[in-house]
Amino acid sequence: MKTVIVGAGLSGLTLAERILASGSNDEVTVIEREKAPGGLARSFHVDGFDFDIGPHRFHTFNAGVDTYLQEILADHFIQISRKSSVHMAGKYRNWPLTLVSVMGLPFPVLWNSFLDLFNKPDIPDIKSFADFIRSRYGNNLYSFFFSGYTRKFTGINAEELHVDWAQAGVNRAVIDKRVKADSLLSLAKGLLLPKPVETKFYYPATGGIQTFCDLQCKRIQAAGGKLLFKRSAKDLLKENGSVSAVILENGETIPADKVYWTAPITILYPETELTFINTLTANVALSSEIPDNDYQWCYFGHEDLIFSRLTVPRNFRKDCVPSGRDSVIAEITCNSDAEMWKKPDTIKERLLRDLKSVGAIRGDDVLFVNWEKIPETYPVYTLDYKEKLASINIPEGLFLTGRSGAFWYNNMDHSIAQALSIVQGSEYKKDFWNQR
Ligand SMILES: Cc1cc2nc3c(=O)[nH]c(=O)nc-3n(C[C@H](O)[C@H](O)[C@H](O)COP(=O)(O)OP(=O)(O)OC[C@H]3O[C@@H](n4cnc5c(N)ncnc54)[C@H](O)[C@@H]3O)c2cc1C
Repeated sequence: MKTVIVGAGLSGLTLAERILASGSNDEVTVIEREKAPGGLARSFHVDGFDFDIGPHRFHTFNAGVDTYLQEILADHFIQISRKSSVHMAGKYRNWPLTLVSVMGLPFPVLWNSFLDLFNKPDIPDIKSFADFIRSRYGNNLYSFFFSGYTRKFTGINAEELHVDWAQAGVNRAVIDKRVKADSLLSLAKGLLLPKPVETKFYYPATGGIQTFCDLQCKRIQAAGGKLLFKRSAKDLLKENGSVSAVILENGETIPADKVYWTAPITILYPETELTFINTLTANVALSSEIPDNDYQWCYFGHEDLIFSRLTVPRNFRKDCVPSGRDSVIAEITCNSDAEMWKKPDTIKERLLRDLKSVGAIRGDDVLFVNWEKIPETYPVYTLDYKEKLASINIPEGLFLTGRSGAFWYNNMDHSIAQALSIVQGSEYKKDFWNQR
């Protein structure tokens, strides 16, 4: 069998590595558009500074994924504790929220949110993200934080987003299910009866998060798999309704009996008009440490600030920056038509001003700003995205998987879990979020 895997991110590499490790006689070829592996879990090494694409750390409740992580990393990892923040009402507050940080919210927000506990809007048919948030957290927290953050992050209003975005954007990113903060009432209970949850995360002992994928690549090559970088797949060749080859942009065709497609689904099915958001990452190197940047990452909901999240690499591993230096990664989401996507330097001045306004840089300490354009970082769940996905006719021999291939908001552990279950032959589900 000729197995072709499109995409050398965590999904594609786990598939390739596991198929080869299973003793299969398949000829395995991985095709990757970029010059390096890792996909969204790629890293950039610039003048002694390691930058990931925003924050990346491994965590899983799935025993199979945990075993796999440890097998690949062997003893090449460190364990770190969570340290995330949210910047609300002009101040840094711990995330998950603590009683102290909640009490520090402006009084009208606090009081009105408290009243919302008893007076939440009754929305019988929850369709949009806005409906979901308003019914769970009330109108006040919705307008105070969620509506602006959502508009800034996705470029569209919360009313136009499918309720599934809640699982992606809230449960996963902002609200931590493990401290039972999935509604205002449970958040309040959690604050009164705090049950601290100490979660440990894995991070490679050297390099950035991409080290994991580099280790996978070594195994794939050692087992006889082929890795083709700087090759873009653009379509499939089909014979009698079955996949027979992958067609590349450069005109090559790679024969295939089976294709695992982890690149964006929209390359194969542009007619669905499904969309992704892109992320511009500004990797900012600083000449000295900013002691107040004590979080791994922090969310910024304020619409006036150009970035939606900041990440501080040294809080993942000290030597992600040269000794005495510091760095910060700003994430700015936009679409491909945006002027800033075409010419990131046009927003440099504004970026530095905004970073200074929240105390993340001093201003005179910037050594360089390295821009990375990361296309298709988040699938956008518009109200009709499910109908669009359902309209796709998948030929025999094609498997759509991974974050962009399945159009599902995977984390790294979900992409690995999907790949493991495919190789083990078990049915792979989309809803990996709730599997623990
Ligand atoms: C800012 C940010 C922060 C995140 N933080 C975390 C975190 O802390 N923890 C966590 O678990 N997860 C995190 N994630 C999610 C995690 O990065 C992804 O779930 C995971 O990397 C997805 O892997 P994948 O292989 O499924 O998809 P991808 O990484 O998207 O891989 C797809 C691959 O296909 C390639 N490709 C695209 N088009 C083509 C083409 N035409 N031909 C050939 N190749 C192509 C791409 O270059 C890419 O390498 C984060 C994501 C982002 C964007």
